[in-house]
Amino acid sequence: MNTTLLRTRRLTSFYGDFQALFGIDFEIDAGEVVSIIGANGAGKSTFLRSLVGLNKAAGTAIEFGGRPIGGMPPYEIVKQGIALVPEGRRLFPSLTVEENLRLGGHPGRPGPWSLERVYALFPILEERRSSPGTALSGGQQQMVAIGRALMSNPCLLLRDEISLGLSPLIIRDIYGSMPKIVAAGTAVIVVEQDIGQAMRVADRLYCFQEGRVSLAGRSDALTREQISEAYFGSH
Ligand code: ATP
Repeated sequence: MNTTLLRTRRLTSFYGDFQALFGIDFEIDAGEVVSIIGANGAGKSTFLRSLVGLNKAAGTAIEFGGRPIGGMPPYEIVKQGIALVPEGRRLFPSLTVEENLRLGGHPGRPGPWSLERVYALFPILEERRSSPGTALSGGQQQMVAIGRALMSNPCLLLRDEISLGLSPLIIRDIYGSMPKIVAAGTAVIVVEQDIGQAMRVADRLYCFQEGRVSLAGRSDALTREQISEAYFGSH
């Protein structure tokens, strides 16, 4: 039997007077991988930011583990078990790899992830443990950002556009870490511009268009045509 881990109902989001999300209904089960695709400005990042409390959401619009979490501050949501790997990585440049990773553990929860386990997932980070964030390649910075989020032992990991600006080889390596993350019991929401990658990696897929869900379904049941129409719209 599947257990719903997170559910949103009619989730809206605003930047001042500007409405970015218009009633998003979304679900992810424990241990599931779900991709969100959509054109620039469709609302994908705003949706992730709402889930972790960076954008304000109505109390009952988000349920996590059966409890309402809308309106909770970000640090409280991390303690509940949701962690965001933001677009653009956002490391602390003057801190070393290891210091960046350790920061991810606070606030955190007990669970399977530790510094050793993150190093086992991305061995290059152990080699570079004393290097400052600025000395790393884009791909290595992305690994630190993922490791830092895992250090809080989330049951749900949110990954925003991890492929942005990285070479295909590095993208392959980073996506190669996904099965190990899922095997540790973590569900993952992946925001991805590359439709092929999104379909390969996920059990289910949501397409956002102009702040609304334009398509949702199992990745293996959706056709390219359906997805193109939902992605680009028919106008
Ligand atoms: P991208 O792929 O470009 O990141 P996205 O699907 O993640 O796109 P969002 O970044 O969530 O889209 O943006 C949704 C809408 O909200 C867009 O119209 C965007 O211009 C607007 N928006 C995003 N951030 C802000 C902000 N800080 N202030 C005002 N409007 C914003």
